[in-house]
Amino acid sequence: SNSNLFCALRAAFPRDLDQIAVETTSPQGEPLHYTWRDLDHASARIANLLASLKLPEGSRVAVQVEKSVEAMLLYLATLRAGYVFLPLNTAYQSGEIEYFVGNAEPAVVVCTPGNFGWVSKIAFKAGTQHVFTLGDDRTGSLLERAAHHKDEHVPVARDADDLAAILYTSGTTGRSKGAMLTHGNLLSNAQVLKDYWGWKTGDVLIHALPIFHVHGLFVAIHGALINGSKMIWMAKFDPKAVLAAMPRATVFMGVPTLYVRLLAEPGLNKESAKNMRLFIAGSAPLLIETFTEWQQRTGHTILERYGMSETIMLTSNPYAADTRHKGQSERRGATVGFPLPGVGLRVVDDANKPLPVGEIGNIQVKGPNVFKGYWRMPEKTAEEFTADGWFKTGDVGKVDERDYVSIVGRSKDLIISGGYNVYPAEIEGFINEMPGVAESALVGVPHPDFGEVGVAVVIAKPGAPLSPEAIVAALKSQLANFKIPKKCFVVPELPRNTMGKVQKNLLREQYKGLFA
Ligand code: ATP
Ligand code: MG
Repeated sequence: SNSNLFCALRAAFPRDLDQIAVETTSPQGEPLHYTWRDLDHASARIANLLASLKLPEGSRVAVQVEKSVEAMLLYLATLRAGYVFLPLNTAYQSGEIEYFVGNAEPAVVVCTPGNFGWVSKIAFKAGTQHVFTLGDDRTGSLLERAAHHKDEHVPVARDADDLAAILYTSGTTGRSKGAMLTHGNLLSNAQVLKDYWGWKTGDVLIHALPIFHVHGLFVAIHGALINGSKMIWMAKFDPKAVLAAMPRATVFMGVPTLYVRLLAEPGLNKESAKNMRLFIAGSAPLLIETFTEWQQRTGHTILERYGMSETIMLTSNPYAADTRHKGQSERRGATVGFPLPGVGLRVVDDANKPLPVGEIGNIQVKGPNVFKGYWRMPEKTAEEFTADGWFKTGDVGKVDERDYVSIVGRSKDLIISGGYNVYPAEIEGFINEMPGVAESALVGVPHPDFGEVGVAVVIAKPGAPLSPEAIVAALKSQLANFKIPKKCFVVPELPRNTMGKVQKNLLREQYKGLFA
C-alpha cells in the first residue's frame, strides 16, 4: 500500500466533496470559498505540472511565498507528486535565500512575483532548473502553467521512510539546520494529535499562523485535513479578525504572542469565546500570567504543547483524562504536559544518565515522529543522537511526580557562573513576578573572574516605573548570590523572530563586552 501522507489526508476528506473546506478573504477583502473538491482538483493540477517536469527522485521544491490557500495547495501537490517540500520564511532576504538554496539545491523554486528577479538569479546559480512565481492573489506562473494540466492525479507511491519535507529550524541558537521529515513522521504525529486533542466532526479551525514552520504547516493543516475539518484561513494574524471568527469556529492554535495580542482586545470575553472548544499554544514558552488571564477572561484553559522542527509534536497537556497518566486531565500552566502516545521522553545528565523525578537535565526523545537527520550534516546528526537512539532536543527541563514535563530553557542558554549552573528560566520567573514587570530574559556574558555572569533584560508593563537596581536588590533577598544578575537593563522590547521566540543570541552579542 502507498504510505504517501497525501493518501491519508485525502482519505479523510468528507464524503460530500461540495462542502466548504476553506473559507478565506482575498487580499482585496472579498470572501473566498474552497470546497474539498477544489482542494483535490487544484492540488492535482499542480502535482501534474510537477510530474511533467520529470524531476529526479527526491527533488526538493523550495517555496518562499506569502501565505495563501494556493501555497497550501502547492504543499499538498508536492506530497502527491512524491517530491520534498521545503518552505522558507517569508522574511528571508538575499543573503539567507542564497544560503538555503545553495544548501538545499532544489530542483524547483517558487517565489513571489515581486521577488522573481533576485530569487531566480540565486536559484539558477545554484543549479535550480525551474523557477515559478505565486502571488497571494492567485497570480503567477505556477498557477498559469498548472491550469493546462488535468485535475486528476494518482499520488506517487512513497514508503513511510521516504522524505516528505525539509524544515529549516528557526535559527534561535545558531545557523538554521534542515530537518529531514518523512511521510511516516508526519502521518504518525497527525494521527496521534487527532486523537489526543479530541478532534471531532464539525470542528472548525482558525488558521492564523505562518505556514513555513511545523506549527502552521503541520500541526494546524494536518490537524484540520485529517479530521475533514473546515479551516477559516487568515493570511495574516489580526486579533480583530480572529475574534470575529470565533463564533463560527471551535479550535485555535497560536504562539504565545498571539494570545497576548488577543488579550489586548476588549471584545475578548466568555461570550465571544462561547463556541470555541480548544485553544492550543506552543513554539515558545507561554507565560503563566497569559495562561491565567486567558482563563479569567474567556473561561477556557489554554492547552500548551511542546515540539520542534526535528520531531513535530512531543508533549501535550491533556485535552481529556489521560489514562496513561493516572487519568489526570488538568491542563497546567508553565508545563507542556505529558509525552504524546508513542513518544519516549527522558531527562538525563551530561553523561546521558537518566535523572530522578524533579531533577533538571537534558531532554531526550524517541519515537516514530523523530526525524531522519539534518540535511547534508551527517556529523551534526550523529552528534545529536545517543548510541542507543535517543535524540538530544537541546532543551533543558524536568518531569514532576505527576508526570508533567516542564521546559526550563535551552542547554545553550545555560549560564555557568563561577562553576555553578544558572538556569535562566528560574531567575526570569522571579523577575516576572515583580510588580510592573511584563517580561524578562537572562543571558550569560563573558566575565574575567566568573567565566560567565548573568545579565537581565527586563520589559516594563506600560507606564510602570521600574528601576534595574531595585530588581537586583529584590532578587538578592530571594536567591543565592551566584544566581543574581551582575547587571540589569530595562528596555522597551526583546528581540524576537517570527515565531515569537526571544533571540537570546542577539542579546548575548549586544552585551558581550560589558565585563570584558
Ligand atoms: P534552532 O534549532 O535553529 O536554534 P529553534 O530550536 O528555535 O531554532 P524550532 O524547531 O522552530 O527552532 O523550535 C523548537 C524549539 O522551540 C524547541 O526546542 C523549544 O526550545 C521551543 N519550544 C517549542 N514549544 C515550546 C513550549 N511550549 N515551551 C517552551 N519552549 C518551546
Ligand atoms: Mg532547535
